[in-house]
Amino acid sequence: MNKMHTELSLMVVHAHPDDESIGTGGILAKYSAEGIRTVLVYGTRGEVGEILNSDFVPPSPGLKIEDIRALELEKALKVLGVESVHFLGYRDSGIVGSPENHHPQAFAEANMREATGKLVDIIRRERPHVIVTYNERGFYGHPDHIMANRVTLQAFSTADDPEFKCKNGLKPWHPNKLYYIAAPITRLRMINRWALERGEKPHFDPEVLGTPEDEITTIIDVREYLPQKLEAINCHQSQIDPNGFFRNLLNKYRDEALGYEYFSCVKGCNTIDHKETELFERFIAK
Ligand SMILES: [Zn+2]
Repeated sequence: MNKMHTELSLMVVHAHPDDESIGTGGILAKYSAEGIRTVLVYGTRGEVGEILNSDFVPPSPGLKIEDIRALELEKALKVLGVESVHFLGYRDSGIVGSPENHHPQAFAEANMREATGKLVDIIRRERPHVIVTYNERGFYGHPDHIMANRVTLQAFSTADDPEFKCKNGLKPWHPNKLYYIAAPITRLRMINRWALERGEKPHFDPEVLGTPEDEITTIIDVREYLPQKLEAINCHQSQIDPNGFFRNLLNKYRDEALGYEYFSCVKGCNTIDHKETELFERFIAK
Protein backbone atom coordinates (compact mmCIF):
# COMPACT_ATOMS: atom_id res chain seq x y z
CA MET A 1 0.00 0.00 0.00
CA ASN A 2 1.37 3.42 -0.82
CA LYS A 3 1.10 6.79 0.89
CA MET A 4 -2.31 7.70 -0.49
CA HIS A 5 -4.51 7.81 2.59
CA THR A 6 -3.51 11.23 3.79
CA GLU A 7 -7.10 12.17 4.54
CA LEU A 8 -7.52 9.37 7.11
CA SER A 9 -6.57 9.66 10.77
CA LEU A 10 -6.08 7.25 13.67
CA MET A 11 -6.19 8.41 17.30
CA VAL A 12 -4.98 6.18 20.13
CA VAL A 13 -5.79 7.16 23.72
CA HIS A 14 -3.38 5.80 26.35
CA ALA A 15 -2.74 6.38 30.04
CA HIS A 16 1.08 6.58 30.32
CA PRO A 17 4.13 7.06 28.08
CA ASP A 18 5.32 3.57 26.95
CA ASP A 19 1.80 2.10 26.70
CA GLU A 20 1.75 3.07 23.01
CA SER A 21 4.75 0.94 22.03
CA ILE A 22 3.84 -2.26 23.86
CA GLY A 23 0.12 -2.35 23.11
CA THR A 24 -0.22 -0.48 19.83
CA GLY A 25 3.31 0.01 18.43
CA GLY A 26 2.48 -2.22 15.47
CA ILE A 27 -0.62 -0.37 14.30
CA LEU A 28 1.03 3.01 14.84
CA ALA A 29 4.07 2.03 12.74
CA LYS A 30 1.91 0.36 10.09
CA TYR A 31 -0.62 3.13 9.61
CA SER A 32 2.01 5.88 9.78
CA ALA A 33 3.90 4.05 7.02
CA GLU A 34 0.69 3.78 4.99
CA GLY A 35 0.18 7.53 5.07
CA ILE A 36 -2.56 7.62 7.68
CA ARG A 37 -2.16 10.47 10.18
CA THR A 38 -1.48 9.00 13.62
CA VAL A 39 -2.32 10.91 16.79
CA LEU A 40 -1.64 9.95 20.41
CA VAL A 41 -3.37 11.20 23.54
CA TYR A 42 -2.14 10.48 27.08
CA GLY A 43 -4.07 10.92 30.30
CA THR A 44 -0.85 11.40 32.30
CA ARG A 45 2.91 11.75 31.93
CA GLY A 46 3.64 8.66 34.05
CA GLU A 47 4.71 10.64 37.12
CA VAL A 48 4.43 7.67 39.48
CA GLY A 49 6.47 5.26 37.38
CA GLU A 50 9.64 3.82 38.82
CA ILE A 51 12.92 3.18 37.10
CA LEU A 52 12.64 -0.54 36.47
CA ASN A 53 16.02 -0.94 34.81
CA SER A 54 18.86 -1.08 37.35
CA ASP A 55 21.40 -0.41 34.56
CA PHE A 56 19.61 2.75 33.50
CA VAL A 57 21.69 5.94 33.46
CA PRO A 58 19.60 9.14 33.29
CA PRO A 59 20.55 11.46 30.40
CA SER A 60 21.32 14.18 32.94
CA PRO A 61 21.33 14.14 36.74
CA GLY A 62 18.34 15.39 38.72
CA LEU A 63 15.72 14.72 36.04
CA LYS A 64 12.26 13.84 37.35
CA ILE A 65 10.76 10.55 36.22
CA GLU A 66 8.20 12.32 34.02
CA ASP A 67 11.01 14.24 32.30
CA ILE A 68 12.93 11.03 31.66
CA ARG A 69 9.79 9.41 30.30
CA ALA A 70 9.06 12.44 28.09
CA LEU A 71 12.50 12.10 26.45
CA GLU A 72 11.99 8.37 25.94
CA LEU A 73 8.53 8.97 24.51
CA GLU A 74 9.79 11.56 22.05
CA LYS A 75 12.25 9.01 20.62
CA ALA A 76 9.64 6.23 20.48
CA LEU A 77 7.09 8.42 18.69
CA LYS A 78 9.68 9.35 16.09
CA VAL A 79 10.39 5.64 15.48
CA LEU A 80 6.65 4.94 15.11
CA GLY A 81 6.06 7.92 12.81
CA VAL A 82 3.43 9.48 15.11
CA GLU A 83 2.53 12.94 13.86
CA SER A 84 0.81 14.53 16.82
CA VAL A 85 0.72 14.03 20.60
CA HIS A 86 -1.51 15.52 23.29
CA PHE A 87 -1.66 15.26 27.08
CA LEU A 88 -4.90 15.64 29.03
CA GLY A 89 -2.80 17.06 31.87
CA TYR A 90 -3.65 14.72 34.74
CA ARG A 91 -1.29 12.92 37.11
CA ASP A 92 -0.44 9.22 37.11
CA SER A 93 -2.74 7.56 39.69
CA GLY A 94 -0.36 4.71 40.55
CA ILE A 95 -1.35 1.08 40.86
CA VAL A 96 -4.58 0.01 42.58
CA GLY A 97 -4.54 0.69 46.29
CA SER A 98 -1.60 3.12 46.33
CA PRO A 99 -2.02 6.53 48.06
CA GLU A 100 -1.38 8.18 44.66
CA ASN A 101 -4.89 7.01 43.67
CA HIS A 102 -6.30 9.95 45.66
CA HIS A 103 -3.87 12.70 44.66
CA PRO A 104 -5.93 15.82 43.76
CA GLN A 105 -4.70 15.69 40.15
CA ALA A 106 -4.97 11.88 39.78
CA PHE A 107 -6.40 10.96 36.38
CA ALA A 108 -8.46 8.13 37.89
CA GLU A 109 -10.42 10.59 40.02
CA ALA A 110 -10.68 13.39 37.47
CA ASN A 111 -13.99 15.15 36.97
CA MET A 112 -15.59 13.22 34.08
CA ARG A 113 -17.11 16.26 32.41
CA GLU A 114 -13.87 18.18 32.53
CA ALA A 115 -11.76 15.25 31.25
CA THR A 116 -14.31 14.46 28.53
CA GLY A 117 -14.33 18.12 27.47
CA LYS A 118 -10.54 18.09 27.08
CA LEU A 119 -10.65 14.98 24.90
CA VAL A 120 -13.61 16.27 22.84
CA ASP A 121 -11.55 19.37 22.15
CA ILE A 122 -8.65 17.26 20.87
CA ILE A 123 -10.99 15.03 18.79
CA ARG A 124 -12.59 18.08 17.15
CA ARG A 125 -9.17 19.52 16.43
CA GLU A 126 -7.61 16.29 15.05
CA ARG A 127 -10.75 14.82 13.41
CA PRO A 128 -9.82 11.11 13.67
CA HIS A 129 -11.81 8.47 11.76
CA VAL A 130 -10.80 5.62 14.07
CA ILE A 131 -10.16 5.84 17.82
CA VAL A 132 -8.48 3.07 19.85
CA THR A 133 -8.28 2.74 23.64
CA TYR A 134 -8.49 0.14 26.45
CA ASN A 135 -11.55 -1.90 27.35
CA GLU A 136 -13.50 -1.32 30.57
CA ARG A 137 -11.05 -3.57 32.46
CA GLY A 138 -8.26 -1.21 31.49
CA PHE A 139 -6.34 -4.04 29.82
CA TYR A 140 -4.65 -5.04 33.08
CA GLY A 141 -6.72 -3.20 35.66
CA HIS A 142 -4.63 -0.05 36.15
CA PRO A 143 -6.94 2.76 37.37
CA ASP A 144 -5.59 5.18 34.72
CA HIS A 145 -6.24 2.68 31.94
CA ILE A 146 -9.81 2.20 33.16
CA MET A 147 -10.23 5.99 33.23
CA ALA A 148 -8.85 6.27 29.67
CA ASN A 149 -11.63 3.85 28.64
CA ARG A 150 -14.37 5.84 30.41
CA VAL A 151 -13.27 9.22 29.11
CA THR A 152 -12.76 7.97 25.54
CA LEU A 153 -16.13 6.21 25.43
CA GLN A 154 -17.85 9.38 26.63
CA ALA A 155 -15.87 11.70 24.32
CA PHE A 156 -16.48 9.44 21.30
CA SER A 157 -20.23 10.02 21.53
CA THR A 158 -19.99 13.64 22.69
CA ALA A 159 -17.62 14.94 20.00
CA ASP A 160 -20.39 15.24 17.39
CA ASP A 161 -23.00 16.68 19.76
CA PRO A 162 -23.59 20.30 18.69
CA GLU A 163 -25.01 21.03 22.14
CA PHE A 164 -21.61 20.28 23.70
CA LYS A 165 -19.65 23.48 23.31
CA CYS A 166 -15.86 23.69 23.36
CA LYS A 167 -14.23 26.85 24.66
CA ASN A 168 -12.51 27.49 21.34
CA GLY A 169 -15.61 26.99 19.17
CA LEU A 170 -14.32 23.94 17.25
CA LYS A 171 -16.97 22.28 15.09
CA PRO A 172 -18.50 18.90 16.08
CA TRP A 173 -16.77 15.85 14.61
CA HIS A 174 -18.08 12.33 14.24
CA PRO A 175 -15.36 9.66 14.54
CA ASN A 176 -16.47 6.57 12.57
CA LYS A 177 -15.21 3.69 14.68
CA LEU A 178 -14.12 2.95 18.25
CA TYR A 179 -11.95 -0.06 19.08
CA TYR A 180 -10.75 -1.53 22.35
CA ILE A 181 -7.34 -3.17 22.62
CA ALA A 182 -7.91 -6.88 23.27
CA ALA A 183 -5.79 -9.52 24.96
CA PRO A 184 -7.01 -12.94 23.81
CA ILE A 185 -7.67 -15.26 26.77
CA THR A 186 -5.82 -18.04 24.96
CA ARG A 187 -2.74 -15.84 24.61
CA LEU A 188 -2.77 -14.86 28.28
CA ARG A 189 -3.15 -18.50 29.32
CA MET A 190 -0.10 -19.33 27.21
CA ILE A 191 1.94 -16.57 28.86
CA ASN A 192 0.89 -17.78 32.31
CA ARG A 193 1.85 -21.37 31.46
CA TRP A 194 5.24 -20.08 30.41
CA ALA A 195 5.61 -18.16 33.70
CA LEU A 196 4.77 -21.33 35.66
CA GLU A 197 7.29 -23.37 33.66
CA ARG A 198 9.92 -20.83 34.68
CA GLY A 199 8.93 -21.23 38.31
CA GLU A 200 7.34 -17.76 38.46
CA LYS A 201 3.95 -16.85 39.78
CA PRO A 202 1.35 -16.02 37.08
CA HIS A 203 1.22 -12.28 36.54
CA PHE A 204 -2.53 -11.96 35.96
CA ASP A 205 -5.74 -13.93 35.71
CA PRO A 206 -6.47 -14.58 32.02
CA GLU A 207 -10.12 -15.33 32.78
CA VAL A 208 -10.57 -11.85 34.29
CA LEU A 209 -8.41 -9.73 32.00
CA GLY A 210 -8.56 -11.68 28.76
CA THR A 211 -10.91 -11.00 25.88
CA PRO A 212 -13.00 -14.02 24.79
CA GLU A 213 -12.35 -15.14 21.21
CA ASP A 214 -15.85 -14.17 20.00
CA GLU A 215 -15.40 -10.56 21.18
CA ILE A 216 -12.25 -10.12 19.09
CA THR A 217 -13.38 -8.56 15.83
CA THR A 218 -10.06 -7.52 14.38
CA ILE A 219 -6.61 -9.07 14.13
CA ILE A 220 -3.86 -6.96 12.60
CA ASP A 221 -0.73 -8.66 11.31
CA VAL A 222 2.08 -6.25 12.24
CA ARG A 223 5.04 -8.63 11.76
CA GLU A 224 6.36 -6.43 8.96
CA TYR A 225 6.62 -3.58 11.50
CA LEU A 226 8.23 -5.57 14.33
CA PRO A 227 11.62 -3.82 13.93
CA GLN A 228 10.00 -0.42 14.55
CA LYS A 229 7.80 -1.78 17.34
CA LEU A 230 10.78 -3.32 19.13
CA GLU A 231 12.89 -0.21 18.64
CA ALA A 232 10.08 1.93 20.08
CA ILE A 233 9.75 -0.41 23.09
CA ASN A 234 13.52 -0.16 23.60
CA CYS A 235 13.31 3.66 23.61
CA HIS A 236 11.60 3.35 27.01
CA GLN A 237 14.84 2.20 28.64
CA SER A 238 13.94 3.30 32.17
CA GLN A 239 10.78 1.18 32.09
CA ILE A 240 12.25 -2.15 30.98
CA ASP A 241 13.91 -4.49 33.43
CA PRO A 242 16.55 -6.24 31.27
CA ASN A 243 16.13 -9.39 33.38
CA GLY A 244 12.40 -9.09 33.88
CA PHE A 245 9.54 -11.26 32.76
CA PHE A 246 8.52 -9.03 29.86
CA ARG A 247 12.01 -8.86 28.34
CA ASN A 248 12.43 -12.64 28.65
CA LEU A 249 9.05 -13.19 27.08
CA LEU A 250 10.01 -11.01 24.12
CA ASN A 251 13.33 -12.77 23.70
CA LYS A 252 11.63 -16.16 23.56
CA TYR A 253 8.29 -15.43 21.86
CA ARG A 254 8.95 -12.23 19.94
CA ASP A 255 6.67 -12.87 16.96
CA GLU A 256 3.91 -14.55 18.97
CA ALA A 257 3.93 -11.85 21.65
CA LEU A 258 4.20 -8.81 19.41
CA GLY A 259 3.51 -9.83 15.81
CA TYR A 260 -0.27 -9.52 15.95
CA GLU A 261 -2.43 -6.86 17.61
CA TYR A 262 -6.01 -7.71 18.60
CA PHE A 263 -9.01 -5.40 18.92
CA SER A 264 -12.73 -5.41 19.64
CA CYS A 265 -14.80 -2.99 17.60
CA VAL A 266 -17.37 -1.42 19.93
CA LYS A 267 -18.82 1.49 17.92
CA GLY A 268 -19.43 2.07 14.26
CA CYS A 269 -18.91 -1.45 12.94
CA ASN A 270 -21.16 -3.35 10.64
CA THR A 271 -22.22 -6.74 11.81
CA ILE A 272 -19.03 -8.58 11.15
CA ASP A 273 -19.16 -12.16 9.92
CA HIS A 274 -15.40 -12.44 9.61
CA LYS A 275 -12.43 -11.13 11.55
CA GLU A 276 -11.30 -7.80 10.15
CA THR A 277 -7.64 -7.47 9.24
CA GLU A 278 -7.61 -3.66 9.08
CA LEU A 279 -8.89 -0.95 11.43
CA PHE A 280 -9.82 1.06 8.35
CA GLU A 281 -11.45 -1.87 6.54
CA ARG A 282 -14.47 0.13 5.44
CA PHE A 283 -12.27 2.97 4.22
CA ILE A 284 -9.49 1.17 2.39
CA ALA A 285 -10.16 -0.45 -0.97
CA LYS A 286 -7.74 -3.31 -1.45
ZN1 LIG B 1 0.03 2.37 31.41
